[in-house]
Amino acid sequence: MQYLPSAQRYQSMEYRRCGNSGLKLPAISLGLWHNFGHIDILDNARNILRVAFDNGITHFDLANNYGPPAGSAEENFGKIFKDDFVPYRDELIISSKAGWGMWPGPYGDWGSKKYLVASLDQSLKRMGLEYVDIFYHHRPDPETPLEETMGTLDLMVRQGKALYVGISSYQPAEAAKAMQILQELGTPCLIHQPKYSMFDRWVENGLLDVLEQNGVGCIPFSPLAQGVLTNKYLKGIPADSRASSHRGNGAIEEDQVSEDKINKVRQLNELAEARGQNLAQMALAWILKDPRITSVLIGASKPAQVLDSIGCLANYYFSEEELNKINNILK
Ligand code: NDP
Repeated sequence: MQYLPSAQRYQSMEYRRCGNSGLKLPAISLGLWHNFGHIDILDNARNILRVAFDNGITHFDLANNYGPPAGSAEENFGKIFKDDFVPYRDELIISSKAGWGMWPGPYGDWGSKKYLVASLDQSLKRMGLEYVDIFYHHRPDPETPLEETMGTLDLMVRQGKALYVGISSYQPAEAAKAMQILQELGTPCLIHQPKYSMFDRWVENGLLDVLEQNGVGCIPFSPLAQGVLTNKYLKGIPADSRASSHRGNGAIEEDQVSEDKINKVRQLNELAEARGQNLAQMALAWILKDPRITSVLIGASKPAQVLDSIGCLANYYFSEEELNKINNILK
């Protein structure tokens, strides 16, 4: 049946300005790293995207290698976009990236102009788009001059293939240098996409300060530590969880759900319940409490998880006492 988005879609979502740019992003964005590949069920993927948009999630985050197999998340997104979202293109922010291994040989990985230009062209074809809203360099390349990689991002904007550009997983000093180069080229860096969750707090050691000083937004990925920061692993590893599905491509495996982690999760879960939230909601709220965060980038294997996660917006205020308790648990 033809999709008609909810007329109420802009009533409850919060939109935050991305750094010093003109662009606002929803406080929650949806990523298609897993659950949107050819190994997944297309109708489930479609329903996740519909529920997200119906609730004001206007930003979908992809990359050349999402699937599995690599490329298939963009292909499936392209199909769903064509069926459901074409009339709403101007209401959507669609992101893609390149920087991880995508095709064999020396031109299908890292950060050369040769790789990035070809990869974005492939992504646009797979998704059936004329341009992406944000294109990221997916990870730093220790061998390619930063001037070449950033110069390529600038070129993409000038060619109209991307409206904005960003970087992902860059450390503070290299992020600052990348931002300076982009600034000099006249294409300011819009956003940085780092890994950040209660279990991985490296961004607090300098990166968030660099972003604030440069007026660049921040969109943390894997905020639930791939699902560990929810109540789903408290009684073992469920058969339908990411940890049990052996999806590859960086997805969490059973041995990463350690007893030590689950002990912490149990204590965090109690604290979340005392706040009137579930743990997934508290883990997302804990990230959104910082005004330097533009948007938190969630994943979902079911439409209901999107709705559940959006519930974090009801309370992202934390007292000093709660923050101290969380720090003690995470120590
Ligand atoms: P999360 O940490 O949010 O993990 C998502 C997974 O957690 C879901 O697939 C689901 O797993 C489980 N989950 C989600 N919501 C709930 C809930 N409310 N209750 C219970 N379980 C829940 O994020 P991801 O690791 O998926 O990363 C999010 C996005 O970040 C990616 O899609 C991608 O766009 C981006 N990313 C970027 C990277 C980069 O290098 N720039 C690297 C990795 C991700 P289950 O299958 O167990 O149900």
